[in-house]
Amino acid sequence: MKYVFKDLPNIKNRLKKHNLALLLDFDLTLSPLAKNPNQAFLPKTTKDNLGKIAPQIPVVIITGRKLSDIKKKVNIKNILYIGNHGLEHSLNKKYEVVPLSIDTKNALLKAKKELIKICKIYPEIIFEDKKYSLALGYRLIKKNQIRPLECIFKKIQKEINHEGLLEARLDKKTFELFPLMKVNKGTASLLVLKKLKNKFHKKFTPIYIGDGQTDEDAFLSLKKNGITIRVGKKVKSSAKWYLNSQKEVNFFLKWLSSF
Ligand SMILES: [Mg+2]
Repeated sequence: MKYVFKDLPNIKNRLKKHNLALLLDFDLTLSPLAKNPNQAFLPKTTKDNLGKIAPQIPVVIITGRKLSDIKKKVNIKNILYIGNHGLEHSLNKKYEVVPLSIDTKNALLKAKKELIKICKIYPEIIFEDKKYSLALGYRLIKKNQIRPLECIFKKIQKEINHEGLLEARLDKKTFELFPLMKVNKGTASLLVLKKLKNKFHKKFTPIYIGDGQTDEDAFLSLKKNGITIRVGKKVKSSAKWYLNSQKEVNFFLKWLSSF
């Protein structure tokens, strides 16, 4: 992995040659760390920078959040959104959702009941029912309770993976369950590029910035031509570049907006 700000001439060269599209994760990429996910917000300077970029190149936010939630949080004109890790989107101004099978819906319902029981034991957990996926944020939990709680999550993760209808991921103090389908931030990114190509009759090169495990699907899908940037250096990442912190994302966006 190369550090973005040490490789700017190379990145600049690539940017010059292509039609660009900017694909961004939200939490911990655009928004600073929030102990309660409901309080995560888009800082004013980041919003201003995105506002400058959006009229020039397509900007798409790809998040695990609910579509309605991310739209409210970002609230910038001309930006496109993909929610629920690719299951919900409004790329052509109309709302589209990937349909779930009855078995998957039932599995989500069953999991929800089990997770609610855990939330009763650990009231500091922030439970989110995102309709097509479920998330438990546990940043507010006492330090000594984290390990036992993660043990419970890992046990559920095992059961769920065994059943084969849902997928469970534990990352960044969030336990998430979503339908096991061939839909993720990687397929969502490819869908964005396809829709842009159809609309503008030209090929787009993506710049993708994300920090989490679900963003790795996108880094992998865009590996060939994409400018993939991970927030935080990680040896095993499929991203080609990295930024040191969420704060640096904004520096990069500022650089990009004046480019
Ligand atoms: Mg993130």
